Amino acid sequence: MNFLWIEDNLKFVREKINLTCQSARRNPKNVKLLLATKTVSADRIKQALDTGETLIGENKVQELQEKYSLFPNENIEWHFIGHLQTNKVKQVLKYVTCIHSVDRLKLGRVLHRELTKENRKLDILVQVNTSYEESKFGVAPEETLNLIEQLSELDTLNIKGLMTIGKLTTDDKETRECFRLLKSIQQQVIDQNYPGVEMDILSMGMSGDFEIAIEEGATLVRVGTAIFGEREYPDSYYWNEQLRMRD
Ligand SMILES: *Cc1c(COP(=O)(O)O)cnc(C)c1O
Repeated sequence: MNFLWIEDNLKFVREKINLTCQSARRNPKNVKLLLATKTVSADRIKQALDTGETLIGENKVQELQEKYSLFPNENIEWHFIGHLQTNKVKQVLKYVTCIHSVDRLKLGRVLHRELTKENRKLDILVQVNTSYEESKFGVAPEETLNLIEQLSELDTLNIKGLMTIGKLTTDDKETRECFRLLKSIQQQVIDQNYPGVEMDILSMGMSGDFEIAIEEGATLVRVGTAIFGEREYPDSYYWNEQLRMRD
């Protein structure tokens, strides 16, 4: 099998990122591309890595573990972008340099406890539920400042910014509202001047809406389908499967 079409898709996505940056008067260097690789097979990922991509985001600990072991020597940065249960924290920490989905104090505390044991720090983003959808994880917009203030006291956590999943709708206006809301929360956090809190990263935008996200200030877009093709499982498998187990 060859997956050269993945190279074409990547070129296409990169080009769209560049064009959107141009028209939004932004420097493309300030928009990172993260490959969202949930359910994507190793040979497809390999194809993308061979074109020079280095940033991968996984949603599940098990898959992260498996894929990490397949690409041990490559110069890859692994991020965790899925819902994280506290009992998986220890495993995830073995692989990642950033967690995008910190959305509650309890998770922050468990991360802090483990990181303290390992005597290291970790970059995190706070996930905000900007669409107010029940099915989505993330802290409520109006609770975000409070959560960040509390997380900022945990000195092993380098709070680097915010993450959101835009509303999945054909109405671009609604999606754009989500991204604008994240941007405005970013500014509110900056205004608070919490010690040690940086707000440089806005992780927002996926295959269907990364151009809108870039127009609204994304510094990191997470793209899967537009590069690797349709997934076998519906996204609900990743996003609300464990609502009952929310901790
Ligand atoms: C799957 C996923 C993406 C990528 O979604 P696509 O629509 O396939 O680009 C981005 N972010 C998160 C958190 C995801 O779970």
